[in-house]
Amino acid sequence: MNHAHWIKNTRLFDPDDYECSACGCKVAQPTDRCPGCGAEMTGRPRGGHDWTEDAAFLDIITGKM
Ligand SMILES: [Zn+2]
Repeated sequence: MNHAHWIKNTRLFDPDDYECSACGCKVAQPTDRCPGCGAEMTGRPRGGHDWTEDAAFLDIITGKM
């Protein structure tokens, strides 16, 4: 049984997607099992850039403050 995890790709203007760490296929929503290679996904999606701080910055530059 293969095991892998989702690598979250957070995008600024498009919906997030998730990339399989084993085969690299991308899905819109993380699932228990990769539809591409059938690996069982372990743990929470992780990795990628954390936009949280950037989002706060965006609030400032878009005038929401
Ligand atoms: Zn896969």
